[in-house]
Amino acid sequence: MKDTISDSRENYLKAILEAEAEGRQVIPALLANWLEVSAPAVSMALKRLRRDGLVEVGKDGIVRLSASGREKAYSTALRHHLVERMLKEIFGMEWHQIHEEAERLEHAISPAFEAKLKEKLGEGACPHGNAILPVSPEERRSRGETRLSEAAGGHEYKVVSLEERDPDLLEFLHQAGIEPGGKLRVSTQNYDQTVSIQLDKQASTLGRMAAEAVWMEPIGV
Ligand SMILES: [Zn+2]
Repeated sequence: MKDTISDSRENYLKAILEAEAEGRQVIPALLANWLEVSAPAVSMALKRLRRDGLVEVGKDGIVRLSASGREKAYSTALRHHLVERMLKEIFGMEWHQIHEEAERLEHAISPAFEAKLKEKLGEGACPHGNAILPVSPEERRSRGETRLSEAAGGHEYKVVSLEERDPDLLEFLHQAGIEPGGKLRVSTQNYDQTVSIQLDKQASTLGRMAAEAVWMEPIGV
């Protein structure tokens, strides 16, 4: 995939923003893993980002966004959000198919086109149920949301949103019959850290990694 320096810079800043929102400590190894690049590539990129005043690396080795880095990350996140909504709402693409396209296009949106998209799309969640900026687990819990991996058995839930960073995981959830806005019943949380659920027409069992990415709210309480 073609990746210019400025695209790659935007990808780093967005990844740091997402990791912070997930409550993770951002260390270079995590970035290497998420962005699928080598450790030396990450340290070179971090050097550039520090030089440009976009990130700070603490004595503890933890990477944090500076104020201007955060501003840049926000604007990439906004463009990503608008592109996803355009692909779904205007072109009818499915939520589990738009990730790659959005990752490419978010770097190519001009300010004028961005304004047009905002005007056309108005307010709303992305096709994965997410707001423009990543929301922390604490914030989600304070709204009464719960992860599928932690939801009580014997209750019905509506899927609010999916953590959308990993396109393979989104495809997996799609195959398992889970989608934003969909309903499911949690049957049991199992000893082996899987969770058994009942969907409209099928029963299914999900592993912990997949279940952690699904945020839901209880129905009828
Ligand atoms: Zn999304």
